[in-house]
Amino acid sequence: SAPVLAIDGPGGAGKGTISCLMAEHLGWHLLDSGALYRLTAFAANKHAVALDDEARLAELAKALDVSFPIEQGQPLTVLEGENVGQAIRNEQVGEWASRVAAIPEVRTALLQRQRDFCQPPGLVADGRDMGTVVFPKAPLKVFLTASAEERARRRHLQLQEAGVDANLSSLLKEIQARDARDTQRSVAPLKPADDAVLLDTTRLSIPEVVEQLTDWLAQ
Ligand code: C5P
Repeated sequence: SAPVLAIDGPGGAGKGTISCLMAEHLGWHLLDSGALYRLTAFAANKHAVALDDEARLAELAKALDVSFPIEQGQPLTVLEGENVGQAIRNEQVGEWASRVAAIPEVRTALLQRQRDFCQPPGLVADGRDMGTVVFPKAPLKVFLTASAEERARRRHLQLQEAGVDANLSSLLKEIQARDARDTQRSVAPLKPADDAVLLDTTRLSIPEVVEQLTDWLAQ
């Protein structure tokens, strides 16, 4: 099977940006596992499935009609024929996602779908449990962190660039609430794998992080 670079960590640590750059740089496939949880939550809302209806959420996750085609160099997220790439990237859907992600049956339903992304020549996998659960044999597991304040600041910038008005202190609160839910849940809690390397990106630029990961991969 193909090599996997597992990149885990809390929201806003830079996993999305770094994973995308690493996949491009290596010519490997990319798995944005958070998108699958966001899509499950989004589909639940669309089909009026309650966020505590564990059995129906697991069915929904299992049957998720989603694809990630690349159009004009841009990856799209297509759910039931509709491009929802933008619609799933807001704090509301993120919050719903962290609720559905705490349901063991939902995680099981998404497991094989995630493993199917592992194709030659390799896979960069971005998430919370890539190194601990989904790809435990990945030759390189990186755990990216940054202070909550820095992550809130980055999210704020990202939103501003997208033309969205956001409040920094409420973003910080949302990030801290999501961290708490993700680290305290009983199934696949957010934590570094025993053999993961930790990288605090609070004071690092994007090119510095890419360089560090590239160095580790070459070792
Ligand atoms: O990374 P992103 O913010 O898109 O993830 C949304 C939510 O999905 C996270 O807060 C987390 O609860 C959940 N998630 C997860 N396991 C993953 C990826 C995301 O539980 N591998």
